[in-house]
Amino acid sequence: MDNILNKSLKSFENCVKCGKCLSVCPSYNSTFNEFFSPRGRIRLIASEVKDELPMRLSKFGQSMSTCLLCGRCADICPNGVKTGPLVIEEKNKFNRIKNEKFSLDDFALNALKSNNRFMLSSGLRLSNIFKFKNLNIPKPSGRPFILHKDLRFIAEKNSLDKNNTEENNTYGKNLKSVRIDTQHNTINIIKNITVGYFSGCVFNSIYPEISRSTVSALNKNNISVIVPSSQSCCGLPHISSGDIASFKELALNNALSFKEKKLEYIITSCASCSFSINKLYPLYFSAEEKNKTKENDRTDILNFSKKLVDIWEFFSILKKKGINIKQGVLSEKLDAVFHIPCHLKNSANFIPVSRNENLIGEAGSIIDDIKGLNLKPLKYNYCCGNGGMFNMRHYNMSKDITRRKFKEINDASPEVILTSCSGCMLSLKDQKNIRNGNNEIPVRHLIELYDKSIRT
Ligand code: SF4
Ligand code: SF4
Repeated sequence: MDNILNKSLKSFENCVKCGKCLSVCPSYNSTFNEFFSPRGRIRLIASEVKDELPMRLSKFGQSMSTCLLCGRCADICPNGVKTGPLVIEEKNKFNRIKNEKFSLDDFALNALKSNNRFMLSSGLRLSNIFKFKNLNIPKPSGRPFILHKDLRFIAEKNSLDKNNTEENNTYGKNLKSVRIDTQHNTINIIKNITVGYFSGCVFNSIYPEISRSTVSALNKNNISVIVPSSQSCCGLPHISSGDIASFKELALNNALSFKEKKLEYIITSCASCSFSINKLYPLYFSAEEKNKTKENDRTDILNFSKKLVDIWEFFSILKKKGINIKQGVLSEKLDAVFHIPCHLKNSANFIPVSRNENLIGEAGSIIDDIKGLNLKPLKYNYCCGNGGMFNMRHYNMSKDITRRKFKEINDASPEVILTSCSGCMLSLKDQKNIRNGNNEIPVRHLIELYDKSIRT
């Protein structure tokens, strides 16, 4: 992993301008303008690095700011050009020279960083009222999942009942953390596996029901869950806005929040969080960063990153170890499409990890476990247009991208759109001016459907 960030930042030199990446880039396909294409961005970056172009040019800023960091270009590039880290670096430089003035984007980023749930919801509402008039930010569907105290959910009690979710619970000595012995391929105790849960800010504050469904589905599969309350945003909105310093602060806070719990696995049900923690944490805390980050902090962050797994990958690990995952049954047949989040599918090119990269395969195997669920294919699996803060900063372009997504969704005529990412849910649920007067199609997280389909 040594120097992987430096290598990525030099990869612009490998661009041969073949244009292969243009076909998959959502911002280019929305504008057909080279400035908003991966090749155009690489060209601008190369000129800026060689001092041929001042980055203060507004076109330069726009070009970088409209990259969704979806990873599609790097996935298809024959020469290993890593547009994502390059764009992040340029955004970071741009932030340092831009004029300091009040911006509601900054307010929202600060709210996420402070982990102040009141400030976060006020920020989102203010953004809606004053600046992003069209942006349809949903009202939270209940009180936040985590408020101020740690939570625990004990599997044996199938515990989304009051006794287990009340905040007065603290970690009990009777919670056994069971190690799955990967070396010897054995599991000593199937009951009482305990994992951590990383909620992420959107599934904590805006869609808390997804956090509850994740914990419930784990409990129904005999897995206990502990949820430290000091965890915060994963930092993806910050780094995708070029604020690398805040991203690093959040990474450390999250690592320390889970450090004392001595867990084997920490689960997330948000593709964007798993992308940020599994791919970007190692990228930005890899060996060449030694001088910048205290060694202990770096170790804690990298350990946290290794332990975090997407819910589908975790179920797959259990299955491979011979632990059966409960099958679900729907009361009525349901036609659905599954939108694969870019950060679940295309993120491998940010940093290679040793674990299984075929996460959609894991999600697919759960779909097979739900009887009555009929999955219809999506031809291209276009991007949904979310891209971290992209849909807030560039709402019109974002909705163009969502509109394109809905062309393939409409062709499949599903009763429900399933996905596995908080950002994708925000974009896909915002169907204003997208369905041309037709009824909205409900959007659900796959874990919610799976949880409801299984019995205790
Ligand atoms: S596919 Fe790669 S080499 Fe070709 S234009 Fe895009 S970035 Fe350059
Ligand atoms: S990361 Fe996505 S949006 Fe950015 S240049 Fe590549 S394909 Fe386009």
